[in-house]
Amino acid sequence: MSWIDELSKIVEVFPPSDAYRFDETPPLVAPRAAENFVVVKPSNSEEVSAILKFANEKSIPVFMRGGGTGLSGGAVPTEEGIVLSTEKMTELEVDADNRVAICGAGVTLKQLDDAAFRHGLSFPPHPGAETATVGGMIATNAGGVRALKYGTMRNYVLSLEAVLADGRIINVGGKTIKNSSGYSLLHLLVGSEGTLAVITKATIRLFPQMRDMTVLAIPFPTMEDAMNCVVEVARKMLPMALEFMEKRAVEIGEKVSGERWVSREGEAHLLMVFESFDEAEEAAKIAQSLGAIDVYAATTKKDQDRLLKVRGMIYEGLRKEVIEVLDACVPPAKIAEYWRRSNELAEEYGIELITYGHAGDGNVHQHPLVYEGWEKSYFEFRKSLLSLAVSLGGVISGEHGIGAVKLSELEELFPEQFELMRQIKLLFDPKNILNPGKVVRKL
Ligand SMILES: Cc1cc2nc3c(=O)[nH]c(=O)nc-3n(C[C@H](O)[C@H](O)[C@H](O)COP(=O)(O)OP(=O)(O)OC[C@H]3O[C@@H](n4cnc5c(N)ncnc54)[C@H](O)[C@@H]3O)c2cc1C
Repeated sequence: MSWIDELSKIVEVFPPSDAYRFDETPPLVAPRAAENFVVVKPSNSEEVSAILKFANEKSIPVFMRGGGTGLSGGAVPTEEGIVLSTEKMTELEVDADNRVAICGAGVTLKQLDDAAFRHGLSFPPHPGAETATVGGMIATNAGGVRALKYGTMRNYVLSLEAVLADGRIINVGGKTIKNSSGYSLLHLLVGSEGTLAVITKATIRLFPQMRDMTVLAIPFPTMEDAMNCVVEVARKMLPMALEFMEKRAVEIGEKVSGERWVSREGEAHLLMVFESFDEAEEAAKIAQSLGAIDVYAATTKKDQDRLLKVRGMIYEGLRKEVIEVLDACVPPAKIAEYWRRSNELAEEYGIELITYGHAGDGNVHQHPLVYEGWEKSYFEFRKSLLSLAVSLGGVISGEHGIGAVKLSELEELFPEQFELMRQIKLLFDPKNILNPGKVVRKL
């Protein structure tokens, strides 16, 4: 009897299909999916436990999959094995008195947002793709435009139910904000990208609903001027979002959205979102004192949506032309230097880079465009670029994760940490069945 026949006695088994073969990683750098894999869709942790126990005994690789919106190839089944989809794990309960939601791993960002809203609460992080799941967002420690004020996924996970490689079910954390009870296994699992355990359930912290928004759009003559403004504003207040776009990114956003941005002048543009009009007013004054070409305030929802759409559609316009999306994170005061030196480096390699990102938290999204013969020189360029980010006090990924695409850089730039990560992986998953070949190299 084949292992697939044996597995189908535990859970319904589905054949491979494209829906489980790819994620949103740009195809040129995405890992190649195995031809032969099967898909299982457990409904609860007991079923997950039985599947993992079986897979562990037989040493069969298991690839966790949430919404498949990841940008680092993390959910791609790179070997013959089992894709474990959390799509049926969608139970969701809001405990409004304790401001938490108890979510199955497969609950989507949209479902969580809507449920929080119905209870007069909100889930502040907004990592872009609404079909991303709670399990996937935790596994990648997702961020997004609101991280400056509201933090990343890590700041929202109070407890986790997870299944270990050998099938043991563990519960870590509680419904409390504080927890100082030994090593934090919870925070080890956050950001572990499916390599240490399968997350099956999470208690997620909710916040009071956000107040009215004011949006500012501010063009600056140079990136340095714009970033001086970012530093000064963030010293005095925390906007809900503080985004930057270089001029070319704005032009692409305009083209795809069909909306007009506020100005065609200036090398760099800021988009700030505030929950208080007074703060917006103060930020506008700071911008004016630091050389802004102009300051445009959008107070009506229609005007705000128009501006946010330009920023929101840039990636759509680039999607088919990029080699990949890089997301190094540098100290915010170093963004201008990183941007300028990145462009110089790109010029040396004859590469066109389009850049925008989360200025408030230093997360820079760089989009190298495809060029003739890119395979020959691109990866050397990428290594130099990420080394530059690290030399400025940054990290190689702010929110997209290592997945299958940035292992070499992690290993080369942080050899001691990489070795420790391998040891941790060995402890959690001695047979290397959980998402093998992701984050750390095969042991
Ligand atoms: C248009 C667009 C915009 C985006 N914007 C942002 C953004 O602003 N900020 C940001 O951070 N990201 C962003 N992303 C990336 C992506 O949405 C996030 O990485 C998201 O957290 C992935 O969630 P997912 O459910 O789709 O996970 P998947 O892609 O399915 O999986 C991602 C990783 O998590 C693992 N995993 C999934 N579920 C589990 C589980 N239950 N237990 C253990 N491991 C699991 C997988 O094995 C994989 O390694 C964007 C993506 C797109 C396409």
